[in-house]
Amino acid sequence: MRQTEDFRSEQVRGVICYIGIGSNQERPLDQCREAVRRIADGSSMTLLRCSSFYRTEPVGFVDQEDFVNAVAEVRTVLTARALLQALQQIETEMGRVRTTRWGPRIIDLDILLFGQEVVQEGDLVIPHPELHRRRFVLVPLNELASYVIHPSFGVSIQGLMQRLQDESRVERIV
Ligand code: ATP
Ligand code: CA
Ligand code: CA
Repeated sequence: MRQTEDFRSEQVRGVICYIGIGSNQERPLDQCREAVRRIADGSSMTLLRCSSFYRTEPVGFVDQEDFVNAVAEVRTVLTARALLQALQQIETEMGRVRTTRWGPRIIDLDILLFGQEVVQEGDLVIPHPELHRRRFVLVPLNELASYVIHPSFGVSIQGLMQRLQDESRVERIV
């Protein structure tokens, strides 16, 4: 009995989070896969699932290469802030140099959802403030989490998809 409880608590420890992955430089599909590998290898989080990879049209700053985007589902015992730091460390180790926001980048890792937590701080906003407006985020997120509720809106990811106005190109590649 005791063993069963230990096993169960091990299985349910931590919070389920969704991480948005994006790249549009230096073989972006390989960069995204490398980011998933690093997420899976780190001791601070467990990779549960990963979405398909999509080729997507840049949004915002449009005069740049297409992106590859995906979403990873992880479980972590880190706080949201510590998770942000862990993701920023992966970005830096992969050679990301911070230039313009929305500009070209070798890898971008955003916290989309952190359980049902809502965080509103200057340098950390969760759920990610653009999540519901971006097709390149919602399409892969919907693959993994269509029934998950966006904690600020009280609407499922599938519901956000149905309300989505962004019609930019998002093509599944693998
Ligand atoms: P966007 O956030 O619109 O997708 P971006 O990913 O290009 O833009 P970055 O330059 O990667 O923006 O990050 C700018 C800052 O955003 C980071 O330094 C970080 O502190 C902050 N930030 C706020 N909320 C989040 C979040 N949920 N996930 C990742 N970074 C966040
Ligand atoms: Ca981003
Ligand atoms: Ca980012």
